[in-house]
Amino acid sequence: MANNKTVHILRYGTVAEKVHLEKAFSAFDYLSINGNTAAYVSNAIAKFIVEKFFSNKEKGYFIDPITYAFQNKIDLLFSKSKSTNEYSIKKSIAKLIDIYGLSMNRIKQRIPLVPSDFGSSIDKDSFVERILSFQYNLVYKHVQEQDLQKYLDYIAPGQSDNIPQLRPKFLIAPYFYLDNQAPYWEEWLSLNIELANISIAQSKHNCNNLPVFAQIVLNKSVITDPSSLNKIVKAYSILECDGYTIWIDDLNEHESAKAELNGFVALLKGLPRKQIYNMYGGYFSILLTHKSLSLLSGVSHGLEYGESRMVYPVGGGIPVSKYYFLPLHRRLDFTKAFYLLEYAKVLDTNIENWGSSDKYFSDICGCSQCKKIIGKEMINFMEFESKEFYEIHRKNHVLRRKKASSDTKQNCLYHYLLCKKMEFLQVERKDLKQLLNDLKNKSQLYQACHSIKEGELDYISIWDEICSEAEE
Ligand SMILES: [Zn+2]
Repeated sequence: MANNKTVHILRYGTVAEKVHLEKAFSAFDYLSINGNTAAYVSNAIAKFIVEKFFSNKEKGYFIDPITYAFQNKIDLLFSKSKSTNEYSIKKSIAKLIDIYGLSMNRIKQRIPLVPSDFGSSIDKDSFVERILSFQYNLVYKHVQEQDLQKYLDYIAPGQSDNIPQLRPKFLIAPYFYLDNQAPYWEEWLSLNIELANISIAQSKHNCNNLPVFAQIVLNKSVITDPSSLNKIVKAYSILECDGYTIWIDDLNEHESAKAELNGFVALLKGLPRKQIYNMYGGYFSILLTHKSLSLLSGVSHGLEYGESRMVYPVGGGIPVSKYYFLPLHRRLDFTKAFYLLEYAKVLDTNIENWGSSDKYFSDICGCSQCKKIIGKEMINFMEFESKEFYEIHRKNHVLRRKKASSDTKQNCLYHYLLCKKMEFLQVERKDLKQLLNDLKNKSQLYQACHSIKEGELDYISIWDEICSEAEE
């Protein structure tokens, strides 16, 4: 399907992540930006795109309009004021409500959207128009407000009004979450298709015919139920969109049952051969981009939340710094990673400063972040360990939890991003059988280590089985 290179996508979740994005600029192709973040800090994001993307034509960005946020669990859109204890709509969400032309009063009364609102209280055409225009014009709005047009005229004479890198790579049609166990799910499905069709038509006239993608956000029970899955595949297959972005709610590749990952692959196989990006995926998804499978054309992951994500809460989550153990393609607690390295004789605490780092660089990770912090001696692996603590006060006791210092966080984060880049490169270059064999060998090697629990590495045989079956 993908005649182009596999797209490595990074999710820009919160404002605080901007500094890391700048430093890790070489570690991704596209940036996926949450709608609420895009609305709330539009100038900061637009500035970043103008400065960084202008001379990097292969880079790109797109905005997830997160319209599903108004469909369920509206309570999550509110936050409690520390001073008054009162709940109010989060500022970034309030901006989005305004931009999308939704009723602020209604959201304040916590009444979620239902399919029958569309065509009655909400005009479908103008809803789509607002949402596409928000994505399409985000950067140019900033250019106008900051009076940067003259600058663009100077560097791009004659085409300054429509510099491709300053527009999103594609638009995402408004969409809603599909849960086959929730009321009206088939109505939501038809509405999604209708909104996507309107988006495709509108892009031609209003957005210079920019590609339109349909975002398919599903509950796990949809992909394990053949009849629901069939309805999804059928509905989205006839859509004349340019591609699909997919998000399966809380689908964790390392912990899912084989039936769930099989359902995910069945969905990918059922869809037409267009660009298909998984919005939250790990190494399994990257394997699915391999040219002998071609089931995905891109994979996205977050900076710290990683590789699976629950649909609700919207744009939230608790980032935890963990060390990405590249041989097993999984984030691990520092302590477990330490035991695995000791077990594989990569470090030895009986030797002065735990021995040389040569084996680590050849067998575990040779990324520039590891080289920088570990240097010659394995004792520096401690730099991935969280050294600070924070306290949670409960009625009768105090809980002490490990907290990553900002250095630890950065070490874990940059090592992680560079590992991901390496995974994309390897999957592009190596034979699939060889990649799967590497995986199985690593699983065998670490299986016997005492810190690996029974069944903990089962995901490797599941990935191997599914990829091998899909290749046939
Ligand atoms: Zn590394």
